[in-house]
This record gives sequence, C-alpha cells and structure tokens, in this order.
Amino acid sequence: MPEGPSLVMFKEDTVRFIGKKVLEATGNSKIDMDRIAGQKIIDIKTWGKHFLICFKDFTLRVHFLMFGVYYINERKDKQLRLSLRFKDDEWNFYTTAVKWIEEPLDEIYDWSADVMSDSWDAAKARNKLKAAPDMLVCDALLDQQIFSGVGNIIKNEVLYRIKVHPLSTIGALPPKKLSELIKEARVYTFEFLEWKRQYVLRKHWLANAQKTCKRCNLPFHKDYLGAGKRRTFYCENCQILYK
Ligand SMILES: [Zn+2]
Repeated sequence: MPEGPSLVMFKEDTVRFIGKKVLEATGNSKIDMDRIAGQKIIDIKTWGKHFLICFKDFTLRVHFLMFGVYYINERKDKQLRLSLRFKDDEWNFYTTAVKWIEEPLDEIYDWSADVMSDSWDAAKARNKLKAAPDMLVCDALLDQQIFSGVGNIIKNEVLYRIKVHPLSTIGALPPKKLSELIKEARVYTFEFLEWKRQYVLRKHWLANAQKTCKRCNLPFHKDYLGAGKRRTFYCENCQILYK
C-alpha cells in the first residue's frame, strides 16, 4: 500500500521528465485525455498520496488511494487506469483515481499538512488535533488533512513507538504524548523513506504485521479499528489506553 514516502520516491524517479512533452494519454480513466497530448510537464509535486503532474494551465492529479501502483516503462496484466507516453518512455498507473485540477495548487493544498513537506507545521497539526478531542488516535494519524502522507503501516509503527493504544482519544492524551505523536509521525515517515530506499523497510517493522511485542514478549493484538476499520497491530500491555 502506498504511503507518502512511496510517492516521494516516485517523484525522484520522474523529475527527469520535467520539461518533456507527453505525446499521448490512454487508459480507462474517464477524464478528457486529449487535452494532455503535446503538453509539457512543467513541475511534479506530491501531497501525501496525491501525485501532481503540473502543466502550464492545469494539473493532473493521480490519487493512489489504498492500492495504487505505478510503473515506468513496464506494464502489468491488469486494467490500465492511465498511461502517459513520452518519446522514449511511458508511465503506467493502476488502481488510482485520476482527475484534472484547474485551480492554482496553492488554493487547494495545505502544504503545511504534508508530513514530508519542508512546509510541515507541527503547531498547526496540534491545533487541528485539539479541535477534535473525541477522535481516536488511530483515525487521527490517518486523517490526511492533519497528517497527509501517513498511511496504515506508519500509523501502527508510530503508536507502538510512543506506547499509545490505538483506541485512545486525542483529548485524553497528556500534552507530552500529543507532542510525541506529532513529532514521530514525521520522524518515522522519513525513516520509512530511508528504509524503503534501501529495501529494508519490513525488517524494521516492530508492530506492523508482527506477532509478538519485543518489549513485553507477549502476543500482539490484531484488530480492524477506527472509522475506516483499518488493520491495526498493538500490544495491550505496553501501549497505554488514554480515555
Ligand atoms: Zn508490549
């Protein structure tokens, strides 16, 4: 499942296409593909799980949802959502949601909510959290308006790292724990990126998809928790329930 770091890596793979012309767009997406032919990519940005391909007068947004994947110069045997053909290369997107954005991106995106952005603003995140005291911490971390780019794996790892039970409510967290939550959401996401680059991400999981808590030597609980019923791994012994 893609999380913010996967898109940052995709961006790194695609910056060499800035200034290049898209010759043709195809796929089963319902958007008007014709307007893209002959257009030059002027910039590439990401916001959480949104991959933003910027042209002169509009932007193509590819949202990676839960299972989105991309390939450069490679195809898979499944329904192609969008394919962009360049002179010598092609980008292929599967299980994504694609749409046009006509407005300037600064009007649409709160860059300070993206945990991987240089504009990330921890104080703003804290204010948003304080405004939602009844929200469960497992939902808060996945809220893309607060922690854009954080996905389910990062959620599991951050809560384990700060020893907070996923069903704790935001309002019940001591201020120190709230600070840890905000800090580790960003810190862990950058570690995730580094480990993913080195192909050692799974090796570093301490909670996600694990059977035993290494701190307590007790079995992990696996439940589908929160508003989105997302897979959650946690230790009842060392992750404290604040309610
Ligand atoms: Zn434990």
